[in-house]
Amino acid sequence: MEKVVTRHFGIENSQRLETYLQHGGYEAARKALKEMTPVAVIEEVKKANLRGLGGAGFPTGMKWSFIPAANPKPKYLVVNGDEGEPGTFKDKYIFERDPHAFIEGVIITCYAIGSHKAYVYIRGEYEKSIHTLRAAIAEAYAKNYLGKAVMGTAFDIDIVVHPGAGAYICGEETALLESLEGKKGFPRLKPPFPAIVGLFGCPTVINNVETIACVGPIIAKGAEWYAKLGCEKNGGNRLFCVSGHVNKPGVYELPNGTTLREIIYDHAGGILNGKQLKAVIPGGISAPLLTPDQIDVKMDFDSLKAIGSMAGSGGIIVMDETTDMVWAAMIAARFYAHESCGQCSPCREGSGWVYRSIKRIYHGEGRMTDLQNLPGIVNNIGGNTICAFGDAVTMSIGSYVTKFRHEFESKIKESLT
Ligand code: SF4
Repeated sequence: MEKVVTRHFGIENSQRLETYLQHGGYEAARKALKEMTPVAVIEEVKKANLRGLGGAGFPTGMKWSFIPAANPKPKYLVVNGDEGEPGTFKDKYIFERDPHAFIEGVIITCYAIGSHKAYVYIRGEYEKSIHTLRAAIAEAYAKNYLGKAVMGTAFDIDIVVHPGAGAYICGEETALLESLEGKKGFPRLKPPFPAIVGLFGCPTVINNVETIACVGPIIAKGAEWYAKLGCEKNGGNRLFCVSGHVNKPGVYELPNGTTLREIIYDHAGGILNGKQLKAVIPGGISAPLLTPDQIDVKMDFDSLKAIGSMAGSGGIIVMDETTDMVWAAMIAARFYAHESCGQCSPCREGSGWVYRSIKRIYHGEGRMTDLQNLPGIVNNIGGNTICAFGDAVTMSIGSYVTKFRHEFESKIKESLT
């Protein structure tokens, strides 16, 4: 299987410019800047079927094409490296093991959308990532891969690294923009969308780190090569972060369309201690749970959506037969109640209400009315809020209550006897 994003991970000093250049580094940027028009770059990325790998899965080339070239305002690229979705830990490896591949993707993306400044919003706890990326950026400036007239062309580009302060909601793209502007990380009402009114009121593309890291290989080897690695409408590979009750947790680069069963049993070594699988979150904590009868699903955006879940951030959390699903739901609900930014009443009040209800049930103080009320509470959050966080509460918690209702009922019955 051909690796894309992790192709240099096993090489000694893979984070250094010298190493990157020995493996064809910055040739894709040179090709884009010297031989291609911005429109041609966008068309190549469209044909590659590259989807947004941060969670939404929006077609990347199409997103870039929304930037109005005729708008006289500056254009910005903002890279979302906040990586706050529980169960997700892939972007840090890109920053730490191949930062120049990421920087090269930034250069090509900025060229395509007519931007001369990119901001990398990076999770504040990722000290090593921040340090490694800054060192790589300094190397790139020193050799004129960044700065004025890069590689002898007329194209200028600067990159700013901006560590976040730890709020989950700042991974939501418009909250991230607010945070970058120095304000409280409150998601914005859309429309207008960032492509029209984004950072500092200017047209802005926001992409995830992994998405950007795929851009160089697409330009170097062509859209057709990339598209063929994956499956229909989901080109290339993905980084899957596998955690929980598996023998070999870790980050696996595999083609889009690999089944969840293959990831858990063939790559992650199966369930810990020979136990049975009980449930799995396929795409970060916000993705609805899947049960063992659903793990033959292909792990791409469209296939997971078709069975009522989502590919999300690629964070796969595996739970074995011993997992108390009321406890697991309580942990997820506590997270949502803690991280709600509080702008919308349904999310602010509902997430706390959901947490308190499940906590009561878990601690043997639950009533049947708690369980009866839960679906109504969670369903009244999603669709009634400014950002998709509310939908995540509805879909995620709703899946625990629907698929493992019998465990909630048993806990309540136990507490009543
Ligand atoms: Fe904030 Fe929740 Fe509303 Fe999103 S849905 S803006 S997190 S209160």
